[in-house]
Amino acid sequence: METDVLVVGAGPVGLMMAAELRRHDVRCRIIDKLTAPAPYCKAIGVQPRTLEIWEQLGIATEMINGGIWLRGMWAFVNGREIKRVEMDLSDLPYGFLGLPQYDTERILAAHLATFGTPVERGVELQAFRQTDEGVAATLAKADGATETLRCHYLVGCDGAHSTVRHGLGLSFEGDQYPLEFALGDVEVRWVLPHGYGYRFLHITEHQADDFLICIPLPELHRYRLTTVIPSDPASRRPEEVEHGVLTDRPPTYACRSAGSS
Ligand SMILES: Cc1cc2nc3c(=O)[nH]c(=O)nc-3n(C[C@H](O)[C@H](O)[C@H](O)COP(=O)(O)OP(=O)(O)OC[C@H]3O[C@@H](n4cnc5c(N)ncnc54)[C@H](O)[C@@H]3O)c2cc1C
Repeated sequence: METDVLVVGAGPVGLMMAAELRRHDVRCRIIDKLTAPAPYCKAIGVQPRTLEIWEQLGIATEMINGGIWLRGMWAFVNGREIKRVEMDLSDLPYGFLGLPQYDTERILAAHLATFGTPVERGVELQAFRQTDEGVAATLAKADGATETLRCHYLVGCDGAHSTVRHGLGLSFEGDQYPLEFALGDVEVRWVLPHGYGYRFLHITEHQADDFLICIPLPELHRYRLTTVIPSDPASRRPEEVEHGVLTDRPPTYACRSAGSS
């Protein structure tokens, strides 16, 4: 066997998987079809339990130094504050941390590299098959070359549109919302204190017709904003909504409806 485990995907799940395998002295390779890490904040909230596990890996301090403690959440409806939740996790070893996903991935990848295991970028799992000894995986490289890798185990950490899941014929239960969201990583100057998440809801005739969620990022004034792009629900079917990050249509003020507040 060329390696014990092939980890497909170098998002947070694949990086953790590979780091834990290496910590337990298991040989592995980790590949990702992207030639460079994605630069988007994506998942920001880190649970206290995750920090406990990162402490065991020796990387909790670096994660904490790069992040921001999340202090709570304020909710507003039609411009009026309706709820303020202060997060008191003082009975736990750690609080609730905010850290952009690209920083989580950067620190995990650097930790993995200390075991001599780099993320092999620009390498895509194209196909795989069961053999008597394990798995034979066909990998395609960015320069057009292909490789057949023989391993004992293949671990699919390749995200929502997983090649591994499709290859195994596994279903992905659930429905898609017929909604598109605009996300922005921006500076917000306001009087509201930093360190809190903010939810602004707009309700017309008992129906929520707009929202804005602001999650604080480590730098002062910086937030990740999420809002919904208005569209006529009757004109959109769930299967018509594109999924994933669509960078060819960056959010603009024009994507907000005239009725937005
Ligand atoms: C815009 C956006 C905002 C988000 N915001 C939040 C949030 O606020 N909070 C939250 O909890 N979550 C959020 N998420 C979700 C969060 O990012 C995911 O839950 C998380 O990334 C899942 O991690 P993962 O490691 O399972 O998969 P991913 O991070 O998707 O990583 C999978 C990796 O596999 C690679 N890959 C795929 N197929 C192959 C293949 N065939 N061969 C080789 N490599 C392959 C991909 O390139 C990718 O790097 C957001 C997601 C997006 C897109």
